[in-house]
Amino acid sequence: MSSEAQSWIDDLAEKVMSRPGKHVIASAITTSGPTHLGTVEEFFFPSVITNRLKEMGDDPDFIFIGDIMDAFDSVPSGVPGDLKPYLGKPLVDVPDPYGCHSSYGQHFLDDTVSFMNKLGVSPRVIPVTELYQAGYYDSYVKMFFERLPVVREILSVTSLKQLPDSWMDIVMPVCEKCGNIATTRVTGFDGDYIYYVDDKDVGYAKGCGHSGKIPIKSHRWKMAWRLDWPTRQAFLGVTLEGAGKDHHTRGGSWDTAEAVHKQLFGREPPLTYRWGFVLLNGRKMSKSQGVGSLSILMKYLPPEVLKYFLLRVDIEKDKNLDDSGEGLIRLIEDFEDNLKKPRDEKKRLAIHFSSPSPSWKVRFVSLLLAYELEGNWEGAKRRVGLDDDYLRPYVEAWVKSDKLPEEYRIVYRPRKAEGIALEWIRSLTGNESGAEASQKLRDISSATGVPIEEAFSSVYESLIGRKSGPRLSSLIDVLGLKRIIKDLRD
Ligand SMILES: [Zn+2]
Ligand SMILES: [Zn+2]
Repeated sequence: MSSEAQSWIDDLAEKVMSRPGKHVIASAITTSGPTHLGTVEEFFFPSVITNRLKEMGDDPDFIFIGDIMDAFDSVPSGVPGDLKPYLGKPLVDVPDPYGCHSSYGQHFLDDTVSFMNKLGVSPRVIPVTELYQAGYYDSYVKMFFERLPVVREILSVTSLKQLPDSWMDIVMPVCEKCGNIATTRVTGFDGDYIYYVDDKDVGYAKGCGHSGKIPIKSHRWKMAWRLDWPTRQAFLGVTLEGAGKDHHTRGGSWDTAEAVHKQLFGREPPLTYRWGFVLLNGRKMSKSQGVGSLSILMKYLPPEVLKYFLLRVDIEKDKNLDDSGEGLIRLIEDFEDNLKKPRDEKKRLAIHFSSPSPSWKVRFVSLLLAYELEGNWEGAKRRVGLDDDYLRPYVEAWVKSDKLPEEYRIVYRPRKAEGIALEWIRSLTGNESGAEASQKLRDISSATGVPIEEAFSSVYESLIGRKSGPRLSSLIDVLGLKRIIKDLRD
C-alpha cells in the first residue's frame, strides 16, 4: 500500500518485505571531509528503514561503505596542514592531517562513525578498500572489459553523454609514479594487466605523463563510480539503497546502475529511494561548512531533535535548518509539540524514529527560563520539578552562548500591576495553568477592546520590566502563578 497519508518509512519497508531472501540495506559516503548534517542523511535514513523492518519481524543487514578510494578533490576549510600536494590521490593515500589514523579517508570515515554512535546508528561499516582487497570486484572488471562496447553504450545512453569509441575507463588506476587516481586513463587490458597513461587535467590535479601497467590483483585501482555502484550492489546482494536526489536525476548515476543490473547482470535492480538536500539557512550544506559544524550544532540540539528535523518533512523534500538561536528554539518547540501530541501519523512516526529520551517532561524553554532566573542547574531543576540531568548539557550550552535569544535573558522584577494587567490578575484564582492564564488575558483583551499587544506588554512590564518576553504561558509556569498574583497585587 502506498498513499499520501502513509509515511515513506512504511512505504519502503513494505516494498523491502515483498522481496524474497535476506534483506540488505546499504548506504555509502565518500569520506572527503568533516561530517556535516548532509552526511547524517546518508546513514540515518537507511537506519530508520532498518529499524522499521526489525519492528516488522525482519532481520535485515545494514551496511555502510566508506568510499576511501575516491580521489581527494578539494581541501576543506579548517583542516590543518598543507594537503594540496595530495589532490588527485585516493583518500586512502592522503595522510591523516590529525595524525591519528592511517589516512585522511580513514580519519573522516571514523569521524562519521563517531556521529553514528552519538545518534544511536550502528551499521556494519566497510571501508571499500576491504572489498577491493578481498577481490570482489575482479571478475566484474574482466566482464566489463569483455563486453566493452555494451558497457560504453549503456554509459552513453544513461549519462546522456556519448563516449568515444576509444573509451575504456572501466577502472581508474593509481599512477605508480605520482600516486594520482583522478588523472589516469585506461589504454588497454589483457586479462591480467590494466594499461594506463596518466595524462588528464581535472582542474584540481594534473597527470604526470607516466604510462605503465598494473595487475588487476594489485588492487591499486578503483572502478568507475557508475559501474562501481551496481557492481557492489550485486556482490553484496543489496535489497535497498537510496541516495541524494542529485544521483536520481535524468542522466544521473541511478539510471546507469539500473541498466547495468538489467542488461549486464541479468538481475532485478535493488529498490531505491531518494532524499532531498539539507539546506543551512537556505543554502546547500557541504563539507565547506568546515570542521566542527555538526559538533557545534549537537551542543544545542539533543540527538532526537536533530533526527526529528530530518524526519519531520517528506524524505524527498529539502530540509532547511535555520541555525539562528530563534530558529533552533522553534525547532525544539516543534519537536516538543509533536512529542506531546503528534499532528498526524507522519509526525507520530517522525517522533517515534527520533527515539526521544523519557526526560522530556518539562518544556525546554521553561528550563532555559528557570536556569536564567536561578543562575544554576540544580535550582532550575527544582523550580520546574525535573528529576534528571539528561538535558543539562544542552540547557547550559544555551545559557552560556550568545545564541540564546534576548527574550530568554530575563530577570524577575515584579511590580504592582496597573490597568489591564491588574484586571487580569484579579480574574485569576491561582490554580490556572500557564496556558489557561494567558488565555484569560486574551479574553479580557477582546472583552475590553484593549489591543492584544498592549495587554501582553502591560503584563510583561509588571513581571520582567520589559515590553516583551518569552511565551507568557512558559513564563507563568516557571515563575508560579500564585507567586505572580501575590507579587503583582502588593
Ligand atoms: Zn585521525
Ligand atoms: Zn602520475
